[in-house]
Amino acid sequence: MRIATKITKLHLKNPFKISRREIDSYREIVSVEIDGGVGEAAPAKFYGENRQTVVTALEKITPLLDRNLDHIHDIMDEIESTISGNYAAKSAIDMALHDRLGKKLGVPLYKLWGLNPQKTPCTSFTIGLDEPSVMAEKTLEAESYSILKVKLGTPNDIEIIKELRKVTDKPIYVDANTAWTSREAVDIINELAQLRVVLIEQPTKADDIEGLKYIREHTTLPIIADESVKRSSDILKLVESVDGINIKLVKCGGILEALRMIHVARAHGMLVMLGCMIESSLGITAAAHLTPLVDYADLDGNLLISNDPYLGVSIDRGKLVLPERPGIGILTNERK
Ligand SMILES: [Mg+2]
Repeated sequence: MRIATKITKLHLKNPFKISRREIDSYREIVSVEIDGGVGEAAPAKFYGENRQTVVTALEKITPLLDRNLDHIHDIMDEIESTISGNYAAKSAIDMALHDRLGKKLGVPLYKLWGLNPQKTPCTSFTIGLDEPSVMAEKTLEAESYSILKVKLGTPNDIEIIKELRKVTDKPIYVDANTAWTSREAVDIINELAQLRVVLIEQPTKADDIEGLKYIREHTTLPIIADESVKRSSDILKLVESVDGINIKLVKCGGILEALRMIHVARAHGMLVMLGCMIESSLGITAAAHLTPLVDYADLDGNLLISNDPYLGVSIDRGKLVLPERPGIGILTNERK
């Protein structure tokens, strides 16, 4: 079975900054097509992937697709046991196989899993790091979204949220992207709670599990792990240390692993967020089909780019609206 691949540059509407770095003005994604099913890899430097590693991984995966493509579990298990890492590439394959199966059966993905499309949450919209006044301006521009996710990890984190509170009373999620020590985090989070922030994502370094536990014991807001958790096998060690996990298809290797993570987290009474990278509407819509199962959606990667090649999931007053078309249900965006 041949995999057709295509590399696309997604241009960002605004350069996007988080505590670790400022990213470029564009992001390269690799889209794949397998027997009519489509998927995409949005490789992240943080996980050691780029356009070239994706293409190389796809070449290694191709011979493993000479079998019944309906058997997605078998295929993904074999890929996982043959090729290590490369989760963005694996996610593209998993997405394409699900899209193919949904199209073959004539049903949207959420129906394959018996999910209720009315139960999608509202997505948060991300405000990247900048001067507090610029962040306040961006907050005003994000008028049509009902929840904000604010990137922090600066010397003036409290000032930023105070500035935003002058212009909005919407729920705010805060993502520190590993920037704080556990002691700092406790003080900051307790102040943020007074400013009606509703949850905190990844306050400390990814491997500082004890630090996360300390923070959880000394604060009241839900603590969500992101950089600390890639796949289902990472969840158990976090059960005592955080309240929930942020799952991303690109990070875990696709829909099957994301479903496994949701079930493992739920079995331990944990909250679940479904997040994303800078991706087109293809990757975002694939993830959106899972959102009836989660507490929080942070699926705005497609909203941050100016040349989205596709139309897929839409947003009505902040709430995700799933397409009814078979498979992932995307269309080519003629107006891009
Ligand atoms: Mg995050």
